[in-house]
Amino acid sequence: MSNPTRRDFIKFAIAGSIASGCPIDRALIPIPDAHPANIQGEHFAVCHQVRDGHSFPKPEATRTVDVIIIGGGMAGLSAAYFLRGKDFLLLEKEDHFGGNAYQEEFQGQAYSTAAAYDFRNSPCDHLAKEIGLNLLPIDMPDPTIDNGVYTPDTWNTGLTQLPYSKSAIAAWQRFRDDMMKIDLRKQINELDTKTFADLLAPYHCPELNKWWDAYGPSNWGAFTEDTTAFIGVNDAQYLIKGDDSTRVILPGGLGCVTHKLVEVLQPKYGERLIGNATVVSVVPGANDVRVTYYQNDQLTTVSAKFAILATPKFITARLVSNLPDDQRRAMRRMRYAPVPMINMIFDRPVYRKGYDNWCPGNAFTDFIVADWTIRNQPGYHPKYEILTFYCTLREADRATLLSDDDCRAFAGKVLSQFQKCLPEFSVDPIEIRLYRRGHAMMMAVPEQFTKNRFIASRPMDRVFFANSDSGGPESLSMEAVRISQAASEWATLQLAGKPAQANKTAHAALHQFVY
Ligand SMILES: Cc1cc2nc3c(=O)[nH]c(=O)nc-3n(C[C@H](O)[C@H](O)[C@H](O)COP(=O)(O)OP(=O)(O)OC[C@H]3O[C@@H](n4cnc5c(N)ncnc54)[C@H](O)[C@@H]3O)c2cc1C
Repeated sequence: MSNPTRRDFIKFAIAGSIASGCPIDRALIPIPDAHPANIQGEHFAVCHQVRDGHSFPKPEATRTVDVIIIGGGMAGLSAAYFLRGKDFLLLEKEDHFGGNAYQEEFQGQAYSTAAAYDFRNSPCDHLAKEIGLNLLPIDMPDPTIDNGVYTPDTWNTGLTQLPYSKSAIAAWQRFRDDMMKIDLRKQINELDTKTFADLLAPYHCPELNKWWDAYGPSNWGAFTEDTTAFIGVNDAQYLIKGDDSTRVILPGGLGCVTHKLVEVLQPKYGERLIGNATVVSVVPGANDVRVTYYQNDQLTTVSAKFAILATPKFITARLVSNLPDDQRRAMRRMRYAPVPMINMIFDRPVYRKGYDNWCPGNAFTDFIVADWTIRNQPGYHPKYEILTFYCTLREADRATLLSDDDCRAFAGKVLSQFQKCLPEFSVDPIEIRLYRRGHAMMMAVPEQFTKNRFIASRPMDRVFFANSDSGGPESLSMEAVRISQAASEWATLQLAGKPAQANKTAHAALHQFVY
């Protein structure tokens, strides 16, 4: 037997659900060194039955409420916050709230398990302020690390310093100039019918495609061949203008906001926030909406006057009865990328030269320094350094997340590729935590933003569809907050007997062009 190497002593943990829309699962399952991974405790039976169209018995309603909120991610929690003082009930399938904006901790140091940052003055930033959180500025454009070279400010001063050939850099410059000439507002409909790959093709520059095939999957879940040209141009302009300097965050990523929302809501509304409650059916009727959920091996039905569905559409389509055919089809057309999230915990300083670091051509797309915005605060001497790796997979590779051995092998690949990026990265972490997110991110595919979402998100008489995927063009926490603020206004107007006004509010929110 060979001698154990340092790497054999890295602790490895797998957490999270495979199908984020469904299963009941345990939060974190630590796995001892070098032992076969063990994901016992997760059982997907209920949700797989929902997925497979199984019809659950629907017991008589034992509780009535004015508004039921389904899903306790950023959208569901903010809807609950905006409906404070009303008769609401929130049901969440996990044993914790937060969804894709959920923070974890390692010995008191917070890190993100998905959503990274927000933008100054966005609806999410305003909500954060209102609940007592001051998101701090990142204050730095993103660097790129490729071919063993660190290049700060990729799209401005860095562009000519990138470690590529002269012709590749000339192609990047042409692309940069061309993107700034596009009037996005005028050309949105036309751009949204094309793919970003079509737009990149005339530049004949593999390095350019490689870069966007890191940035795109991490930001909007899709590789260039599946990405709408609209979002490609939008983000190119945003980076070239240096608008990324308006980003804000705290350690924990946007999980810090959901964490605080729960903290604020719990004392007064704790019994209205129910975890471990998987909704299996939503039946809108003439006089109420009947919602049946599964908890502790029991099915319970609640009768609500109105419902806010804050679940992603791929699951919403399976939960709601009586959906018009075109709406169900539109929901089912939406695509979601699998994103294993990897956090590496180091017991020594490794890297603090950039917040969000693009590493094209690897199994991970970028990594984030968890405590970036507080790193220079007086008296801050963290014991550990935590780096968060974003690793969007192609949809065809989703099954990687089903096998604990494959997850472990994948994390090993991410570590060894990271260690080859720069000489100073040749350090082993003391622990690697992989959080499985099977259908994490709505993909920004052509015609989702300008066409499909309006059909998918159309409110029903008693149901509002409020997940961030009702907005866009990419999956954003600020959209989750904005749309659920509209959902709470819609519910309030409905309860006041003003359906026409309620529908006007819903329509305005869904059609608001936030870019
Ligand atoms: C890897 C990654 C990185 C991201 N980075 C950023 C970023 O930097 N900035 C940004 O603004 N956004 C980012 N996002 C997007 C952001 O996380 C989402 O837009 C936002 O968190 C979505 O919130 P939501 O409440 O709409 O949906 P979700 O987070 O999907 O919440 C839905 C909730 O519904 C629950 N649920 C599902 N099915 C059921 C059921 N049957 N019964 C009861 N409950 C159910 C789920 O458990 C979940 O809690 C990122 C997303 C990912 C995946």
